[in-house]
Amino acid sequence: MASVLAQSSRLAAQTLKAANQGVRLIDHFSREVVDDIFACALKKQTGVSLKYMLDFGSKPIERQLILSAQFLHNELPVRLSHRVAELENLPYGLSAKPHVLKVRDWYVESFRELRSFPKVKDASDELHFTRLLQHIYRRHTNVVPVMAMGVAELKRELSRSIGVEDLPDIHQFLDGFYMSRIGIRMLIGQHIALHEPPRENHIGLIDTKCSPAGVCQDAIDDARSICLREKGGAPEVTVYGDPSFTFPYVPSHLHHMVFELVKNSLRAVHDRFEDSDNEPPPIRLVVAEGEEDITIKVSDEGGGIPRSGLPKMWTYLYTTAKSPLDDMDRSQATEGSDGPSVLAGYGYGLPISRLYARYFGGDLSIISMEGYGTDAYLHLNRLGNVQEPLP
Ligand code: ADP
Ligand code: MG
Repeated sequence: MASVLAQSSRLAAQTLKAANQGVRLIDHFSREVVDDIFACALKKQTGVSLKYMLDFGSKPIERQLILSAQFLHNELPVRLSHRVAELENLPYGLSAKPHVLKVRDWYVESFRELRSFPKVKDASDELHFTRLLQHIYRRHTNVVPVMAMGVAELKRELSRSIGVEDLPDIHQFLDGFYMSRIGIRMLIGQHIALHEPPRENHIGLIDTKCSPAGVCQDAIDDARSICLREKGGAPEVTVYGDPSFTFPYVPSHLHHMVFELVKNSLRAVHDRFEDSDNEPPPIRLVVAEGEEDITIKVSDEGGGIPRSGLPKMWTYLYTTAKSPLDDMDRSQATEGSDGPSVLAGYGYGLPISRLYARYFGGDLSIISMEGYGTDAYLHLNRLGNVQEPLP
């Protein structure tokens, strides 16, 4: 009760502040919708676990699909409304940036569509609801690059006085915002995937026999081909781990994280040995099978990162590469979910990868030896009983 009250007064304060910024929802949407958003934003979000998702089985029965649709019908508007309330009240005028407004309007649109969808009662309702979910999933594809452009705009404005790395509240917000997005897309993606023809060892997006060594090899191949294209060469990467070992995980999440870590190592090693007579030392990727965790270590001899730079690595937009956002126009930004594939430059690789790891109860940490190289430790929880973290 106390927390609900605290939340409601926080929201009231947020609404007031937003009113002062002149970017109020009410200027764009009806009173009814705005009231509904704020009423939903007072409700608690409900987390699920990997184990809950696994309980659906590879051939979900009709009843399970209906239950899943009913859960999403209740839960998604709550999660979306929390985000809208936040987007209304970002500090430093970030809420008023056109890119941020665009993202907010996507959230409001999806909220409205879900709220006006009638109760899911039978299999035919469920099919229609799944179609709506597909539509919403597509609408939100470009949230990350479009938000990034809003933040980049703020960064340009502030650059003379203070770096955007030094704004902890922005990073806290982005961490929560993107974590929530991972959760929403996992839930929607899972429901949609349960409708697809069953694949061996798959329950929706989850591969019950996911081979970390196999996924790592794919991620390495993809990262090396980008490095080759951009730099004209790519250091070798050696994998140490049993390819036959498997555990239940979402391969697309694992691919995303390893791809980002390997790209960082390739860039560091390539740049350090570019003008050297010596061959670049191979990057070493080790997969360790523990009782509690699967740990993947990516070790490179790319010269490391100064200790003072380590906290910055976890902030959004911190990069030592030239940012493609600086001269990116809108057409480019709508290409892919995380912007066009580049080796480096968004400064999003590490913080987003850490969110993916934490989403299922894992973590990512970086240890650097300046003057030698970097070790990234990616811990993946193998129990799957952990609830989603809900910002
Ligand atoms: P980006 O790669 O787009 O710059 P990241 O979040 O992946 O964004 O990394 C942020 C910064 O951290 C990089 O620009 C680089 O300066 C530093 N960094 C990350 N990984 C390594 C590494 N393995 N070796 C050296 N520097 C690294
Ligand atoms: Mg990177």
